[in-house]
Amino acid sequence: MAAKIDPTSQVSQWKDWHWQIRHAIKDIATVERLLGIRFPPEKRAELETTIATFPMCITPYYLSLIEAEDYENDPVFMQAFPSEAELIIEECDMADPLAEDTDSPAACITHRYPDRVLFLVSNVCAMYCRHCTRKRKVGDIDSIPDKAAIREGLDYIAGHPAIRDVLLSGGDPLMLPDEYLDWILSELRAIPHVEVIRIGSRVPVVLPYRITDELVGMLKKHHPLYLNTHVNHPREITASSREALRKLADAGIPLGNQTVLLAGVNDCPRIMKSLMQKLVRERVRPYYLYQCDLSEGLTHFRTPVGKGIEIIESLIGHTSGFAVPTYVIDAPGGGGKIPVMPNYIISWSTNKVVLRNYEGVISTYREPDNYQQIFCDRNCEACTLQLKLDDANESKGVGIEKLLSDYDDTYMLIPQDNERVDRRNDE
Ligand code: SF4
Repeated sequence: MAAKIDPTSQVSQWKDWHWQIRHAIKDIATVERLLGIRFPPEKRAELETTIATFPMCITPYYLSLIEAEDYENDPVFMQAFPSEAELIIEECDMADPLAEDTDSPAACITHRYPDRVLFLVSNVCAMYCRHCTRKRKVGDIDSIPDKAAIREGLDYIAGHPAIRDVLLSGGDPLMLPDEYLDWILSELRAIPHVEVIRIGSRVPVVLPYRITDELVGMLKKHHPLYLNTHVNHPREITASSREALRKLADAGIPLGNQTVLLAGVNDCPRIMKSLMQKLVRERVRPYYLYQCDLSEGLTHFRTPVGKGIEIIESLIGHTSGFAVPTYVIDAPGGGGKIPVMPNYIISWSTNKVVLRNYEGVISTYREPDNYQQIFCDRNCEACTLQLKLDDANESKGVGIEKLLSDYDDTYMLIPQDNERVDRRNDE
């Protein structure tokens, strides 16, 4: 039995996204009433304390997906409804684990990677996901970016020609009115060096009715435009979310999905395989599988990294390659996304690599004996390789890339606080 919200008996506005927002559920008593459940007084008090710190907001649509008779184990319930475990703050937890505020050179901007930026244009979401990594900001009315802040972000992007890719995020950018979003996208499109615009949005999952024909008609004026959504469980793919995804895909918007690995929700190879296969059927390419961040209040959602590797092991080779997301840990402190995966190289000599496949079959790849490598000292003018690309910028290697190159004498990277090397220098 699903929640006691029956869309057919509800007002005719069920599919009106404004109606859904106006009727968003923000208190425990309404959830009790709609699910036909009752919490013991002590638990209720703990839940009230939790939502005083991390507010609750659930769309009627998303609540209607909960199976009330087993709500405690329901993956939709667990993502939408608070848990008193959110109040447990571990020593390793951080308010801003990805150091997004530290890497913010202008209002609304996080500039971490050389050629792209995160542009936080909204801090409002249709639903407050309990596992949100930006819990510190989402729903905080004091930090809603105003037009002046957005302008500052746009000016920063315009002033940095290296930025070719802008990811609009928040909050949820699709919670902005069509005209306002159209203005932001038009301003970005007017910047010659911005090649690609991406939108991160969970509305196709928690408020699919927001994907209106008018919205899609506006978005497709701004191609190339990509959209990444956030589906964590196959139960979130419904007739309504399918329709939203269909509209977006039909408008030529390439769709991707970011899943967060969540204990008790989707930490199961079978659930993940079903999810990935369902996504590609809806023309959504699985993009990332995220290890749950070290944000405050998420301890109960975190799994060991081994669980993610086990899931990837059960996907690679077992289903289509394009249905396998990249499993990443977003490095605490702002190191960016680091891919982790099972090890497929068993051994390596000067001319052979020994590999294993998903079935455990071990085979050898013979490397060429006569590979004539092109010496690269980054003197591209003298290079015999046919580059001939107008816009292929030369760049100096960074990090490990630098160690692998021939044009740079660096042969080791030493962390700044390496005591052994400090001692050497002091001697
Ligand atoms: S939609 Fe995204 S930003 Fe908003 S609460 Fe959910 S995870 Fe956080």
